[in-house]
Amino acid sequence: MQNQKEILSKLKFSSLLDLALFVPSNYDDTTLSNSLSIGEEIVALARVESVKKLGNKLQINLFLPKFKRVINATLFKVTPYHFAAFSIGSELFMKGKLSEFNGFLQFSQPKKITMIDKIIPKYKTTLKNSEVLQIVESLISYENLKNEGLNEVEIQTILMLHFPKNLSDILLNKIYKSDIIKTLKIIEAYNHLKKLKGKRVDFPPSAILDNDIKSFISSLPFNLTDEQLKVIYEIKADFLNPKKAAKRVIIGDVGSGKTLVILASAMMALPKKSILMAPTSLLAFQLYEEAIKFLPKSIKIALVMQSKNIGDYKEADFIIGTHALLYKDDLPQIDLVMVDEQHRFGTNQRNLLSKLTSKKDKKAHGLQFSATPIPRTQAMMDSALVDVSLITTTPFDKDTSTQIISKDDFSSLLSCIKSEISKGYQILIVYPLVEQSEQIPYQSIDEARGFWEKNFENVYVTHGKDKEKDEVLLDFREKGDILLATTVVEVGISLPRLTLVVIVGAERLGLATLHQLRGRVGRLGIKSHCYLYTHNIQNERLEKFANTTSGFDIARLDLEFRNSGDIIDGTMQSGQKFKWLDMANDEEIIKNAMTRV
Ligand code: ADP
Ligand code: MG
Repeated sequence: MQNQKEILSKLKFSSLLDLALFVPSNYDDTTLSNSLSIGEEIVALARVESVKKLGNKLQINLFLPKFKRVINATLFKVTPYHFAAFSIGSELFMKGKLSEFNGFLQFSQPKKITMIDKIIPKYKTTLKNSEVLQIVESLISYENLKNEGLNEVEIQTILMLHFPKNLSDILLNKIYKSDIIKTLKIIEAYNHLKKLKGKRVDFPPSAILDNDIKSFISSLPFNLTDEQLKVIYEIKADFLNPKKAAKRVIIGDVGSGKTLVILASAMMALPKKSILMAPTSLLAFQLYEEAIKFLPKSIKIALVMQSKNIGDYKEADFIIGTHALLYKDDLPQIDLVMVDEQHRFGTNQRNLLSKLTSKKDKKAHGLQFSATPIPRTQAMMDSALVDVSLITTTPFDKDTSTQIISKDDFSSLLSCIKSEISKGYQILIVYPLVEQSEQIPYQSIDEARGFWEKNFENVYVTHGKDKEKDEVLLDFREKGDILLATTVVEVGISLPRLTLVVIVGAERLGLATLHQLRGRVGRLGIKSHCYLYTHNIQNERLEKFANTTSGFDIARLDLEFRNSGDIIDGTMQSGQKFKWLDMANDEEIIKNAMTRV
């Protein structure tokens, strides 16, 4: 006797609920009909009255005793088998769709059937249907479903779908009824969360971190926002837990003030040491500068990069660096590991860092920071695997207007650019490509730069493959007026004087990318502008984007457009695909399922 796991693996399923949710795509219903309704499939006992062969067709007159009616049927591509089966006078069960022609009843695509009064589920898979039926029969039972944690309604629904007694209970116009779909959504969310939870592994922390940071917080030149404080308290609770090392992702829009949360965490860790890894030298350096600016002078801070180090990392309380950190084999004992802009690192790199710092079966506390907002529903789902904190507000109210523009608006765009530059602000223009391409109906950087360089001063250019990217950005930050770039500027370097961004061919980009680019301007609350340049002005996606500011709302919009099959670039986080759940709209269902795992 095979065990459950082996049986499920035949269908590539890992849980019983996967199978429960694998509902029939169709049913073969051979329940005898009680009436003759035109347009419906009917099943009835029929007596062959006459048979006529026409080429390879067979025209049959049937009498239906139950209804006392005669009905015509035509069979195509007949074989000797059919002659035998439809001999005059024989009685057989037939199934077919009923139609009417000049007052005569007709059967279209009639089939002789051997079994009646059965509803046979049909499953969509490469396995034979009979095999699936067997698997379902052996595993889907009241008891097994109860053991999986389903409630009465859910159990009855699943049983009804796999062992139907009456299709009118479950189908309406051939699709599942809405209350059934709702139950399937709930089970799907529950099944998913249960699996994630099963994957979560926790380790005891290498140390409990409990340094008081009240005086640090009051030493800051501004008040932390409520959400910054809320997240800091969540982290504090993690640090005090003797059973589990922190394992938390903090997600907040660009400019939501995550750096202060990082610094507060390093403060809470004292006198234990912490480490912070950033994806680029520029970002690492920027974080280092902020650490120097906000942390008490007594704290020893070191910077580790491929090109240079500052301070002695073996002695430091707080080590900031790039992935160069991963190649150090003489790091001191670390009890808090943080990763900024975590989505820029591969899982391997992130894991390597925490391995470097773990000792035996105890682990350093781990915090990851991300500026890619995910839909709230996704955050809820993810929280089964890691703890998730969201920062949805920014310390400054951003004042960025977003406008969709086209060729016709170019001269007013130019005057707006000139006016910003005259106020000492900076401009970013994002092109789809560096070099000209036939595929894309927009200018590339190479084609456009001549124009900008001729008409403006202090024009800087950079792109993803540019080796000097960091230097160009630093130079531009001090001396530039206009920066021409590809989407590389997505990386979170802060350019506080940037107040105007033009995104060329905006409709080609995903909303997440557009949001990141728009987030580059107006970082300090200065009035700023985002222009979406497109040949395709009537674009619902861009319009909605222009009217939405929160990254979390945009992530939800993105989902909606993705569901509706809009074309978008590949930059978004790979969302979990569900058969029944709609991540854009089923927040309540997910919330409910979370309380059950
Ligand atoms: P993020 O990393 O989330 O994109 P940062 O931490 O870089 O954002 O913060 C953006 C800017 O806001 C920085 O200049 C930072 O010093 C400032 N800042 C952070 N928190 C506050 C606050 N509570 N009040 C005022 N300014 C803040
Ligand atoms: Mg940041």
